[in-house]
Amino acid sequence: MARTLNNYINGQWVAASATETQAVPNPATGETLAHVPISTKEDVDAAAQAARTAFKSWRKTAVPKRARIMFKYHQLLMDNYEELAELITLENGKTYDDAYGEVQRGIECVEFAAGAPNLMKGEILPEIATNIESGMYRYPVGVVGGITPFNFPMMVPCWMFPLAIACGNTFVMKPSEQTPLLAERLVELLLESGLPEGVINIVHGAHDVVNGLIEHEEVDAISFVGSQPVAEHVYKTGAQYSKRVQALAGAKNHSIVLNDCDMDKTIEGIIGGAFGSAGQRCMATSVVVVTEDIADDVVKNIREAADELTLGDGIESGVSLGPVIRDTHLKKVHDAIADGENEGATLVRDGRKDDQSNLPAGYFIGATIFDHVTTDMNLWEKEIFAPVLSVIRVKDLTEAIEVTNQSEFGNGSVLYTNSSSAVREFREDIEVGMLGVNVNVPAPMAFFPFSGWKKSFYGDLHANGQDGVNFYTRRKMLTSRFS
Ligand code: NAD
Repeated sequence: MARTLNNYINGQWVAASATETQAVPNPATGETLAHVPISTKEDVDAAAQAARTAFKSWRKTAVPKRARIMFKYHQLLMDNYEELAELITLENGKTYDDAYGEVQRGIECVEFAAGAPNLMKGEILPEIATNIESGMYRYPVGVVGGITPFNFPMMVPCWMFPLAIACGNTFVMKPSEQTPLLAERLVELLLESGLPEGVINIVHGAHDVVNGLIEHEEVDAISFVGSQPVAEHVYKTGAQYSKRVQALAGAKNHSIVLNDCDMDKTIEGIIGGAFGSAGQRCMATSVVVVTEDIADDVVKNIREAADELTLGDGIESGVSLGPVIRDTHLKKVHDAIADGENEGATLVRDGRKDDQSNLPAGYFIGATIFDHVTTDMNLWEKEIFAPVLSVIRVKDLTEAIEVTNQSEFGNGSVLYTNSSSAVREFREDIEVGMLGVNVNVPAPMAFFPFSGWKKSFYGDLHANGQDGVNFYTRRKMLTSRFS
């Protein structure tokens, strides 16, 4: 019998007050790994109160001491690296190699947070006028609620709680109910690092927990990562409750291919960008925008490379394309593909037809490629979040940029070229926050902001980097006169 997960509140693993639970299947096999409680606002209240109480002493804990906990945590994450990667594959389905990379990205966030003594420093100008000085001092915000998606069960929580805690806040985490197991392990290791009771709390669940956090008077700030409609809801509702909110949202990322690109490396990049993590990345390549003169070659090369991918359980070596997260999601992906055919796009490779006879009973779909996609199609407009790639043909870079800028999203975009003037035009004119040149997934490292634009982000201060520090701190200005 699979166990039911507990919440973690005020230093104790406790059963949720909820009676409702949801099964957490391994997406590769359908086997139930655990049951996750769909906690209530009562559970949120207990966690928020515990976090508020812990904040009183945690905010006064010396910053180097908080940083030392992060150093210890870093060591424990390194010591448990393989176990964490296996757990990601088990509950999320991505291949072990992708999961291994994700652990690295999570650990980098802890490395950044361990720099808290430097990051938290204020600044002073000794002479703003004769014998008068002004100083800026940084303080934690208070209790932070963190709400995360299923697709990066380690990296996305690590965008939030290490930095929030290192900056002196206390934290209530609501992990994705689809991938809740890793959050438990991350917190167990954090406790081993010496974190006091109440500084971190977990409340498992879904909408009620999210809304409970936004509405709770003891919660000061909300970090959210997930789909666009929910991000917009969290941001707008958060404003009604006077919360500080950063809400990172969905995407539809365009990769532009010019005729002076290195063809082999470009195809390799597109395959990794579009089909890595089964296309379930907010920085996944969803659309290839290619100039007409090389479009036939590019499409043929992508299709041939996609034929070489091996569909299967990501824990097995040699597998390059794992399942999508749920059978319900798989159904939506099938619908989106059927929709694309009805809209008149050319289905060049149909992943629904890939041989699954030797696969376990998971939620598999092979790499799917549409050519001759246009911007009046749902296929182009909507985020599908699966290994489904659209190709749009254009005459030149300027038109490729125009197409990309028509998207309501602005998370990531890549340019494959060897021309420096093309790079400049791309950088200057594209309305997207995270750019790559000959780099397939240009996700910034932890010391830079994860800086989506348009409907890919709601708020002012992005996750990570100095933005993250500013989000998790408030400032005081002190102006003093000396005689
Ligand atoms: P999701 O929006 O379904 O869920 C995210 C979180 O919101 C979960 O914790 C979930 O419980 C909660 N939630 C879902 N519906 C809700 C509702 N109606 N009211 C309140 N809370 C609700 O997203 P997902 O499917 O878990 O994750 C995939 C999405 O996340 C994709 O759209 C992807 O692009 C996006 N994402 C964005 C980034 C980024 O940095 N911009 C990073 C990772 C994922």
